[in-house]
Amino acid sequence: MNKTKSIAIYGKGGIGKSTIVANIAAAYTEHHKVLVIGCDPKADTTRTLHGGRLPTILNILKENKQAQAQDVVFKGYNRVMCVESGGPEPGVGCAGRGVIVAMSLLERLDIFRDDLELIIYDVLGDVVCGGFAVPLREDYADEVYIVTSGEYMALYAANNISKGIKKLKSNLGGIICNCRGLEREEEIVEEFAQKIGSKVIGVIPRSELVLKSEYDAKTVLEKFPESDQAEDYRKLARNIWENSEFSIPSPLEVDEFDQFFRKFQN
Ligand code: ADP
Ligand code: MG
Repeated sequence: MNKTKSIAIYGKGGIGKSTIVANIAAAYTEHHKVLVIGCDPKADTTRTLHGGRLPTILNILKENKQAQAQDVVFKGYNRVMCVESGGPEPGVGCAGRGVIVAMSLLERLDIFRDDLELIIYDVLGDVVCGGFAVPLREDYADEVYIVTSGEYMALYAANNISKGIKKLKSNLGGIICNCRGLEREEEIVEEFAQKIGSKVIGVIPRSELVLKSEYDAKTVLEKFPESDQAEDYRKLARNIWENSEFSIPSPLEVDEFDQFFRKFQN
């Protein structure tokens, strides 16, 4: 039977989720039929896959209540399918509402057909509540990955996200280290992963090729396919595809977290 694999990528805002989602999606398109669903009100997950910003489901529905699949799903690099849920204007309403509306529309339009081999959700996860928890709660995503760097706030957010994952009894597949270039960064992230009962599934170095590709609204895989950076995204994509170890995380208490982090600060 052709079971669709569905994964959700969570992490603090600005940590590098969309860059990772777009680049691993580009890697998967070489062999698989892939759908990418941007669940961040910033609505920029698919920009580098499509070559520009897409209209969001929330905005499309404002104009056209009868929107059909072809109105909300767009093709990008190597035929990848792209969707942006969108969100309300800043300061108005629940930021996660876009995800709730988008998911029920996609369901109604029968987007989740089984000829899809992979669905990737890109979810803003500073707060795992309301709409942002939908991909976890409603059984949409079978596997969850958290992106973090070695910075305090990124790890703090990662720890909070793991609390949400535990509460909703989802499967944590691992931690992705998106490096900022800090000292002992991989070591910090590695130890954090172990402490919460998980593992590091991939390490992405900091690279100026990311920005250079972004300027052109392209992924690194498209713009610099032969680069080491592109190879690092391919390797991460492979690790996730082959991953068979999942856990319900054991998040750290705040004191425990601070103690852990202090250890690396001298
Ligand atoms: P998020 O989706 O988590 O909000 P983004 O993927 O949009 O984060 O990344 C935020 C910024 O960081 C972007 O401008 C991107 O170019 C930059 N960035 C992400 N990953 C890397 C990296 N490995 N090296 C250099 N810059 C990066
Ligand atoms: Mg993003």
